[in-house]
Amino acid sequence: LGSTGSQTYQGTIKVSVRPRPLSETASSTGSWNINKQGNMIANVEAGEFQYDNVFLPDADNSEVYRDVVEPVLEKCLQGYNGTVFAYGMTGSGKTHSMQGSESENGLIQLCATELFRKLNAEFNAFKVGCSYLEIYNEKLIDLLNFDGPAAEDLRIRDDPTFGVRVVGLSEHWVASEKELIEVFERGDSVRKTSCTDFNDRSSRSHAVLLMRVEMKQDSSTRHSTLCLCDLAGSEKASSQTERRKEGAFINKSLLALSTVIQKLSQGSFNHIPYRDSKLTRLLQPSLSGESIVSILCTIHLSSSTLTETINTLRFAARAK
Ligand code: ADP
Ligand code: MG
Repeated sequence: LGSTGSQTYQGTIKVSVRPRPLSETASSTGSWNINKQGNMIANVEAGEFQYDNVFLPDADNSEVYRDVVEPVLEKCLQGYNGTVFAYGMTGSGKTHSMQGSESENGLIQLCATELFRKLNAEFNAFKVGCSYLEIYNEKLIDLLNFDGPAAEDLRIRDDPTFGVRVVGLSEHWVASEKELIEVFERGDSVRKTSCTDFNDRSSRSHAVLLMRVEMKQDSSTRHSTLCLCDLAGSEKASSQTERRKEGAFINKSLLALSTVIQKLSQGSFNHIPYRDSKLTRLLQPSLSGESIVSILCTIHLSSSTLTETINTLRFAARAK
């Protein structure tokens, strides 16, 4: 009412928790309990936590897709922006969820399949532009710039149509699920080979897959951006040396993201600090207005990770 700002958040934030299976020897969830309805997880020490979904450790990616990604895709097809985040400590199953394994497709593949199935079924014409980038130490790195020189530290500007634009970021038009996955996999192999220690780097960097979708139905055109993010590990840097190595930038984007999401979920719109990090600035259009955000928090229920698991559950609780 009487609001002149464009910052009013009227969107939806969905929060889901996915425990990864424990090792073969321990098949139970240990000291954790998940209720039958699949929306609560509890532990004697940590207490009870409620979310939109709590999966069982044996849930597969298709089940997670249905609850976590499908609502986001639906909203995108109506012309709104949508984002899926995988959040959690290193080793908790973010990449397993996003990219799957040899035996099962990940959320990215499942989303690509459904995206093109629905676009073909519901629209006269459509276009999908795909970008894939990494944010490492607050630098934006284009992973799909196959021909040109390595594009690092790209700038973000305001854009009248899409809210923001990354200057010089390559965008690949893809006409099918197969083309989209091919482009993504090429980018992912660039990500893996561009650094000497991929495991270390992947736990500190965010991988962001952006799909800009244009849909034509009769005389109307809709635009939306669908974004799938495999975030940096949420664990605290384990030593002083490690923290110093990463400089002041360690998890700056992750911190800013949790602040932004918490503010949005509290309905406080006065000052949402989108500009505090590259990730929140890049996703500003998807974290404002009538957008949908679905956060998949992956956790590890082993006793050795209890502190980080509780940290993740608290982050997830603040987002609700
Ligand atoms: P992250 O990306 O969060 O660091 P990964 O996805 O790489 O973690 O998972 C760490 C290990 O655990 C991998 O070997 C992965 O295959 C396995 N894993 C994680 N989640 C699951 C799951 N839900 N089902 C089977 N294996 C999983
Ligand atoms: Mg990973």
